[in-house]
Amino acid sequence: MTAEVFYDADADLSNLGDRKVAVLGYGSQGHAHALSLRDSGVDVRVGLPESSKSRPKAEEEGLRVESPAEAAAEADVIMVLIPDTVQAEVYERDIAPNLSSGNMLMFGHGFNIRYNLITAPKDVDVAMVAPKGPGHVVRRQFVDGKGVPCLVAIDQDASGEALSVALAYAKAIGGTRAGVLKTTFTEETETDLFGEQAVLCGGVAELIRAGFDTLVDAGYSPEAAYFEVLHEMKLIVDMINEGGLSNMWYSVSDTAEYGGVTRGPRIINDEARAEMRRVLGEIQDGSFAKEWVAESKTYEEFNKLRKDQREHRIEAVGASLRDMMPWVKRTITETA
Ligand code: NAD
Ligand code: MG
Ligand code: MG
Ligand code: MG
Ligand code: MG
Ligand code: MG
Repeated sequence: MTAEVFYDADADLSNLGDRKVAVLGYGSQGHAHALSLRDSGVDVRVGLPESSKSRPKAEEEGLRVESPAEAAAEADVIMVLIPDTVQAEVYERDIAPNLSSGNMLMFGHGFNIRYNLITAPKDVDVAMVAPKGPGHVVRRQFVDGKGVPCLVAIDQDASGEALSVALAYAKAIGGTRAGVLKTTFTEETETDLFGEQAVLCGGVAELIRAGFDTLVDAGYSPEAAYFEVLHEMKLIVDMINEGGLSNMWYSVSDTAEYGGVTRGPRIINDEARAEMRRVLGEIQDGSFAKEWVAESKTYEEFNKLRKDQREHRIEAVGASLRDMMPWVKRTITETA
């Protein structure tokens, strides 16, 4: 089943028309959406708590900043771009009392709707516009006259106009310049969680750690191990990103290619694939969401796991080797 795709010609900014938009949150996605909506001529305000450090940043850009409750009360379209774990609380306190019939509630990720942490009244539209890139890229592309592909999904269509309004929103942040793919809250949420758990974040980190431990435990130097299992990852990922797996196989030596295609499936073997299906099952049956919502109240176990990640021996050797490579772009977490 291939997804339906919408481009500029399929979206009409006038469907946002005189609707007032509130963007709640001014982080990675929030700043990009608010600024590009404004540049597209949309009547936008940002909702942030008094204590928020993002307030001065939004005000410096000339954006109108209000409390989340005030912004929600004024707006017809409310885009929720605050951390997934605080959305339900902010919804109950600041959004729900200020929703009126015909309003649209929007999200950049489907977690809270998919797992019923937020249930909107039946006379409100519920939609998602989720850019498939970090906020600074979303904004940069828009400013350059381009855009980042987005996903669009409609969970409730009370007005009968939800899709056209959501597409107008996607157009206003540059999404339809690149292409906006139709999905559902369920598909977006479940594939996003699975991707980050099994492959992108969890899978890659554990593959690196296991490879490093295997080499170092066998007596090789941590420095050599770091280069071979972590440093070169970016080179490989860039080739895959630019031209798919075939481009990577073409670019590496035949020795690397033969070794890879014969040994790779022994690492990600039937057992690993079976475990992937179990991880997906926990996402589908809601048990991951339940676990994470409970854990996010205290961060008690999570902080222990974070400490274990930070204190793995690959992190120490990595920090000193990166000092020898000033061209390796410093990350925010390292320079902060
Ligand atoms: P972020 O952590 O960068 O920013 C969160 C913002 O919310 C900050 O401005 C913070 O001040 C504000 N905030 C925190 N608590 C608040 C509260 N109680 N009331 C009002 N504002 C509050 O978040 P993000 O990464 O932009 O994620 C926002 C949403 O976008 C999430 O649903 C996320 O899943 C989704 N998303 C993120 C990305 C990404 O690249 N980061 C990509 C696609 C979708
Ligand atoms: Mg994702
Ligand atoms: Mg995610
Ligand atoms: Mg090598
Ligand atoms: Mg080759
Ligand atoms: Mg983080």
